[in-house]
Amino acid sequence: MDNSTCPVCGSPLKLKYKLRFNVYECGNCGLLHSDAQFEHSFQSDLESTTRDVGLKNLRLKNFKVIISELQKAKTGELHGLEIGSGNGWWLETCKANSIDCTGIEPEHIYEEYHKKSGFNIVYGFYPDMSPKRQGGYDFIIFNDVFEHIPDINSLVESLKQDLADDGVLIINIPMSTGFFYRMAKLLHAVGWNSSLTRMWQFNFHSPHMNYFNEQNLKMLLDKHGFDCAEVFKLDSLDFSTVKERILSDRGMNKFRGTFIAGALSLMRPVIQHSEPDIKTFFFKKK
Ligand SMILES: [Zn+2]
Repeated sequence: MDNSTCPVCGSPLKLKYKLRFNVYECGNCGLLHSDAQFEHSFQSDLESTTRDVGLKNLRLKNFKVIISELQKAKTGELHGLEIGSGNGWWLETCKANSIDCTGIEPEHIYEEYHKKSGFNIVYGFYPDMSPKRQGGYDFIIFNDVFEHIPDINSLVESLKQDLADDGVLIINIPMSTGFFYRMAKLLHAVGWNSSLTRMWQFNFHSPHMNYFNEQNLKMLLDKHGFDCAEVFKLDSLDFSTVKERILSDRGMNKFRGTFIAGALSLMRPVIQHSEPDIKTFFFKKK
């Protein structure tokens, strides 16, 4: 892949950090872009069972917010597609709200759970394996997935084909302007790299390929004929389960994890008043 020009605006990229992979920055739009590789071996440092306890409350709460906004934006019966369904929590939330949603997921680790829950999931990569819908989908959603996809320009072109003309493209994504990313940059500046490596998920099998801010994400979609209809923030931390979430990283020492969890709880007011770590965007075709 070409790491010399920005995939959003075409300006030159400059090397910003040398971590496990290199991170480049666009001097024009501020996109952060990595030369990371997706590891098909499906090995990860993440302990999925611990992660579930730490994340589930938060995710379900955020998904309910997205569903209520979606129902305001688009009334009537909804048929959607989720790209990268992971553990299936979005599909579970759709089911509970009588929304029809198909998932597409490259990994099989949650397959048994998906089958037991009766989710409609196709295993493979988008768009090659994606089921087509006559007239397009009413919505297509990415929950913490868009930032992992290497070729974002051809991705957005495929989305344009698969979305109904009045459909909503929903991108739920971590922001480079958020509190945690900025903290990781500060720690990197004083010589502690592990936080930034964690933000990019370079120690997981599916690392981030891009880190966006609100402006450059809108710029990318605008280039392909989408207008931003709505942006709202989502909570990035559930303070009651923050310790489990940190300890779900196998590389994390228990003592250090407990210390970080304590520090985060103390910083709660600061975190809640900072630029949000996660935003959800609704895009519509122009
Ligand atoms: Zn750029």
